Amino acid sequence: MKYCPYLSCPHRKRVQSPAEFVGRVTVCSDCGTPLVDTEGEAVEGIHDLVSAKAGPYRDPSAHTLAVRDDDEERARTDKLVGASFIFGALLLLFGAAPGSIAWMGAWCAAIYGIVRLVRGFSAARRKN
Ligand SMILES: [Zn+2]
Repeated sequence: MKYCPYLSCPHRKRVQSPAEFVGRVTVCSDCGTPLVDTEGEAVEGIHDLVSAKAGPYRDPSAHTLAVRDDDEERARTDKLVGASFIFGALLLLFGAAPGSIAWMGAWCAAIYGIVRLVRGFSAARRKN
């Protein structure tokens, strides 16, 4: 048996006791909170969903914030990596003979850099 620990769970408000689940259920069907194994834990309960960090579910606003942070971080990394690759590729291109392995490698790096850079900037734009 598993129990929903969320104190504001709609089921708990309705019946005044934690929702109970059997089998392979891992999150509460009423509120989406990750379930706990003992009734004691469930009765003690959690006040907000952010403290249920063990599970994938978070308070909707916290979730949105986290996603936005992730996107920002990813876009920043994309731009940085892209710019570094383009810079490195330019250095290589100047030093390498056209048609050589290094020259082709430099082009590959340049293309990869451009792709990362474009992805970083389009992700940053999508946000605004
Ligand atoms: Zn619940």
